[in-house]
This record gives sequence, structure tokens and C-alpha cells, in this order.
Amino acid sequence: MKDDLPDEVIIHETVLRDGIQNEETIVSLEKKLQLIDRLVGCGIKRIEISSFVNPRLVPQMADAEELWNRIERKEGIVYSALVLGKKSLNRAIVCGVPHVGIFVSASETHSRKNSNRSISEAKEEAFNLIKRAKSSDMKVRAGVMNAFGCAYEGDVSPEKVMDLVRDFMETDPDEICLADTSGMANPLQMHTMLSRLREITEEKPISLHLHNTRGLGLANVWEALKQGVTIFDTSMGGLGGCPFIPGARGNIATEDTVHMLCEIGIETGIDIEALIEVSLYFEKYMGKEFPAMIPHLKHHKSNSF
Ligand SMILES: [Zn+2]
Repeated sequence: MKDDLPDEVIIHETVLRDGIQNEETIVSLEKKLQLIDRLVGCGIKRIEISSFVNPRLVPQMADAEELWNRIERKEGIVYSALVLGKKSLNRAIVCGVPHVGIFVSASETHSRKNSNRSISEAKEEAFNLIKRAKSSDMKVRAGVMNAFGCAYEGDVSPEKVMDLVRDFMETDPDEICLADTSGMANPLQMHTMLSRLREITEEKPISLHLHNTRGLGLANVWEALKQGVTIFDTSMGGLGGCPFIPGARGNIATEDTVHMLCEIGIETGIDIEALIEVSLYFEKYMGKEFPAMIPHLKHHKSNSF
């Protein structure tokens, strides 16, 4: 059975960006630094630190510069940021960000709400950003948001997604990412989309940014693993959601994803027990129960709830 599954998976931890961007409790700079340290200590090798966005729209990201300046960057760890426009990329360049995500939405309505641009305008801008990022020695993941459906528009045509990816491929990014921003993907759709995608991307690494809005997150991971995907965005606690998508809910939880991978014998390099500890500690700080399931099971077991 394991024959058609990868041996290793890279977890791209996004709690500090997607995870908290919609949370009311503002996470202090010191707490963010502590979390980065502890998550890296658990074995997380890729971590999204922030987006560079207008702080009036996303107050949680207001300290991006200070955060980037104060992180103690460790060898072998990929520190990443989400970049949303020219100004945003400039800020990332000043901070010496080594790895950026640049995304275009496959939904016209979401594109306008998220970036105030039509898809074709957003695509053109993304191309310029990718070129500029690459010439600044950054690694780039180029991605398509709402690749599996849109909370505003419903179905999103796979053709539209493939066209965007085909265009992205011309800019030679380091990775192609499909984001299920509205949490509408299902495993059968995952199967179809990924087989089509592979024809376009060939050897280029593919990553998935999945949300568990309708409870299908890990089922989609399972299908993607069978299709050879080895990079998954996850968020500790299962926090997360796009501020410009109504009803957007959590990313797939790092704890639940790592647990599943561990159970089926796929290596992530992450110490699940240590991760659960960090998750419960952060949950206490945020003052609310996180959607992730695995940490709470353990909690009940240890009888200290
Ligand atoms: Zn997301």
C-alpha cells in the first residue's frame, strides 16, 4: 500500500500568517518570536512568518518588519512571507526575506475583494513581482487561490486554474501552490486537478494550501499524497481563514496532519508530542479552544482539562 505514497512530507507552518490574521487577540511580538522558536524546536522546517499587508486591513501583521528583524534565523529552516503587491514586496526585500508566496485568485469576485484587481490585472502584477523577487535572490512559490471553488462564485473552472498555472510556469517559480482558500475541495476533484496539473508542471514541486471548512481537509491530503504531493501548508491548532472570504475557516491543523502522516509511516521530522505542548500553550494564550483534534485528545487523556 505504502508503495504509492511519498516517504517524506514538508510541513509549511502558517499559523503566524494565515492562522492568526483573522484572530481578534493580537499576538505580541515577543510571543510570535517565542512561537517561531518553539515551532522550529519541534522540527518544523518551513515557517511562514507574516504577510506584508496594510496594517489597517490586517492589524495582526503590523509588526512584520520588527518581527523579521528580530528572528534568529537557523540553518536549514525556510522562513517565508506572503507578498501581495509592489509595496509589499519592497518591504520583504528590505527585511531580507528569503522565500515568498505570490498568489493570484482564480475567482474574479475574490480577486477584486482581496486585491482590488481583476484576475488579469492581478496576474500581470504577480508576474512582475515574481521577476523582481527572483532577481532579489528570493525563492518563490507561485500560487492560485480559490483553485477548487469560491465562496462567492461557487464552482471555479479547472481550465481557469490550469491557464493561470501555465502562465506562471513561464516565470519559472520554485514551486506551484494550489490553495483551497474557500475550503471547497473534495478528494475526487483533488484527483482530477492534480493529474491535470502534473501535465503542466512536470517536475516542478507542487504544494497545497488546504482549509478544513467542510471537514474534508485530511481526505484531500490523502488523495494528494497518492498523487505525489509532498508539501502541505498547515496551521497549528487549525486556526486560519482569509479575511476576504465569508465563513472562511481554519487551515488543516498541523497536529492532525502530522498525526495522520506519522500513523501511515510518512516522515515529517516533527515531534508530535512537543508540537501538542506548543499548541496547548498557544491555545491558553489566545483564550479559546482551537479546532485541532489531536491536542485535545491527549489533554483529556492526561486528565488535566
Ligand atoms: Zn488560507
